Amino acid sequence: MLYEPVIGLEVHAELLTRSKMFCSCAVIEGGMGVEPNTHVCPVCLALPGALPVINEQAIAYTILTGLALNCEIGPFNLFARKNYFYPDLPKGYQISQYEYPLCRNGWLEIETAAGAKRIGITRVHQEEDTGKLAHVGELSLIDYNRAGVPLMEIVSEPDMRSVDEVRAYAEKLRHILRYLGVNSGDMEKGVIRFEANVSIRPAGDEKLYTRTEIKNLNSFRALTQAVDYEIARQTAVVQAGGAVEQETLGWDEARAQTYLQRSKESAHDYRYFPEPDLPPLEISPEQVRAIRAQLPELPDAKRDRFMREYGLSHYQAMLLTEERAIADYFEACASKWKTSSEKCKAVANWITGELFRLMKEEAEVEVEDKVKVEVKVEDKIKPEHLVELVILVETGVINLNTARLVFEAMYATGRPPRSIVEEKGLAQISDTQALRRIVEQVLADNPKEAADYAAGKEAVLKWLMGQVMKATRGKANPQMAQEILLAALQKRAGQI
Ligand code: ADP
Ligand code: MG
Ligand code: ZN
Repeated sequence: MLYEPVIGLEVHAELLTRSKMFCSCAVIEGGMGVEPNTHVCPVCLALPGALPVINEQAIAYTILTGLALNCEIGPFNLFARKNYFYPDLPKGYQISQYEYPLCRNGWLEIETAAGAKRIGITRVHQEEDTGKLAHVGELSLIDYNRAGVPLMEIVSEPDMRSVDEVRAYAEKLRHILRYLGVNSGDMEKGVIRFEANVSIRPAGDEKLYTRTEIKNLNSFRALTQAVDYEIARQTAVVQAGGAVEQETLGWDEARAQTYLQRSKESAHDYRYFPEPDLPPLEISPEQVRAIRAQLPELPDAKRDRFMREYGLSHYQAMLLTEERAIADYFEACASKWKTSSEKCKAVANWITGELFRLMKEEAEVEVEDKVKVEVKVEDKIKPEHLVELVILVETGVINLNTARLVFEAMYATGRPPRSIVEEKGLAQISDTQALRRIVEQVLADNPKEAADYAAGKEAVLKWLMGQVMKATRGKANPQMAQEILLAALQKRAGQI
């Protein structure tokens, strides 16, 4: 029997707000660089009598996400208490949403080798993060800096049918969240976490079978490996005549296998009930309209527009729209040339080639020193300088090889290309008289090769061109030099 996997994802994403969900404590992404329990207050520590206040920005970010995922925004919203006892949760419950989520009924289109496909979004709701536990020997340490950080949960329909689709969905979602500016996408800081629900069924069957849920997957690698493993495990169970049990599983990264956390019998009953300390949250159509107006152009739309307006290939447009800052940088350079796709392509080539290479080199050095400094492209090469470089090449002032050297100098110093070319005397020799003299000298110095050409050995032309470039230290205008060389050789051949 052939089985098909059925997968639905729950994605938790921290929101990039300045303060926490229900108090004014600062949000520290990934808890980086601060002492534990220094960003806490009576509200997020659940001291008696402390009352929550809804973070307006967090609500706006969640609605923005819902709109980007084609959801309906609920006009009436209730927060709910999700009760469970665990030390990372000081209140003994988490404020979440249950029957009335902010956003529902959306979709996200993904692309895999098998084509494009829509994955349904069941809901996007608002909740708060928990504290962090660290187990040191016999002790368990708790840091509440993360307790109460705004969290958004994005729940998909069980629409995915392969690990490829799972990866495409997760990556696309991260890409969109970053474009929206609601989440940094820094997976290593734990700002996006996945839970995968997996079942299998006989291929062609329509109904849903018993699923398992894998918790706490913090990277694309863990997510895809865990889903892959779980599909294989369930298939083996069923093929051996067994039945899949409904279970909550953990993922053992080192062993690369899932393990049982709790079975159905001990599954939690969260005893959801409406949060009595918060009033219902009403969202008016005007509010939704105002937030919709802030939706930026999303990655796919931008990629398609880059192909259309600048004549870029799908691949190049994809590379350029990976980061919103890079896409903006490209447009700052190329927007004046929309009709001249040659110049636009040149800009695109510089960015995806040399610029990415240099930025990557620099970032890697920083990582080794353990200070990850973000390399901001506009701090390196100003758009007008890149434009100038493209023009210098196009008008033949420098050739492409020289331009690469100039580009490196621009990156290192931030100076405009023209001044680098002038200072280092890198301008191409496009002076006919000068080139003629050099060509004559090369032919005089290499009489044998010149004679070989005359005797019909045309391959020697390339070698002679090399000598001309050498004599000019690479600065000869290649087209002109070749024409002059050819003319000189033919003249000699005629004389023989
Ligand atoms: P819970 O609260 O237990 O996590 P939900 O109803 O919120 O349950 O569903 C969680 C996720 O499980 C959703 O993403 C949904 O698409 C997925 N899911 C539900 N049933 C199945 C199934 N049979 N196989 C795979 N995924 C499923
Ligand atoms: Mg779940
Ligand atoms: Zn607080």
